[in-house]
Amino acid sequence: MKVGIFGGTFNPIHYGHLIAAEEVRERLGLDKILFVPSGSPPLKAEELADAIHRYKMTRLAIVTNRLFELSDIECRRHGKSYTAKTVEELKKTNPGIEFFFILGIDAFLDITNWWRPERLITLINFVIISRPDFRFIDLQVSPYIKINRRILKGLDNAEIETYTIKLKNNMDATLLRLTPIGISSTEIRRLIKQGRSIKYLLPAEVESYIIANKLYKS
Ligand code: ATP
Ligand code: MG
Repeated sequence: MKVGIFGGTFNPIHYGHLIAAEEVRERLGLDKILFVPSGSPPLKAEELADAIHRYKMTRLAIVTNRLFELSDIECRRHGKSYTAKTVEELKKTNPGIEFFFILGIDAFLDITNWWRPERLITLINFVIISRPDFRFIDLQVSPYIKINRRILKGLDNAEIETYTIKLKNNMDATLLRLTPIGISSTEIRRLIKQGRSIKYLLPAEVESYIIANKLYKS
C-alpha cells in the first residue's frame, strides 16, 4: 500500500490543500492521503489557532473523501512537531506501507530550518508540488536535491509535467506540476481580519467553524 503524508499547519485548511492532495493521490496512484496537522508550539505564533481547532477543521474538510485520513500524531503532542520523528513513528507502526511525503516548493525549501533535515531526507520518498508564486527553478539553492536547470525550467513553463530523481538512501523525489490554485491560509486570515468574505476558498463547514469559534479575528 502507498500512502501520501500531507503535513501542514492547516491554519486554516483550504481548497489549495484539498485539490493538491486529491491530484497527487490520483496521479501517483496512492491508496490514501494522511493529513497531519502540526502541533502548537508553547510560544505559539500570534495567528496560529490552537492545534485542536486546526485538527477539527481538517476533519471537517476531508470527511467527504474516503481516501483522505486524519492523523493526530503531531497535534496530540504539545510543543513543536518534528517531521523526522513523525515519519519514523509512522514507518515503525506501519511496516507494510510505502510512504510519500507531499509538500510544496516553498515548504521543501524551508526544510533546512527543520529538525535534522539531513536525516528526514533519507527516511521517505518526497513529492514536491508546484504552487502559484513559487518556481521549481528556486530548488537550485536546495542542498538536498540536485536537478538539471533545464528540467526545472521545463517544469516551470509546463513543458514537463513530472520528473523523478533518486535521493540519498535510494529514496525518490518526484517533482509534480499541479493545477495552480492561488489560495493560501495567510490570505484567508487576512480576509477574515478585514471582515471580508472567505467563501469558496475553503469548505463551507470550515467557514462555519471559523465563524462559530471566532478564529483569526484579531
Ligand atoms: P500559510 O500561508 O499560513 O503558510 P499555507 O497556505 O502555506 O498557509 P500550510 O499549512 O503552510 O498552508 O501548507 C501545508 C502544505 O501545503 C505545504 O507543503 C504547502 O506548500 C502546501 N500548500 C499550501 N497551499 C497550497 C496551494 N495553494 N497549492 C499547492 N500546495 C499548497
Ligand atoms: Mg505555508
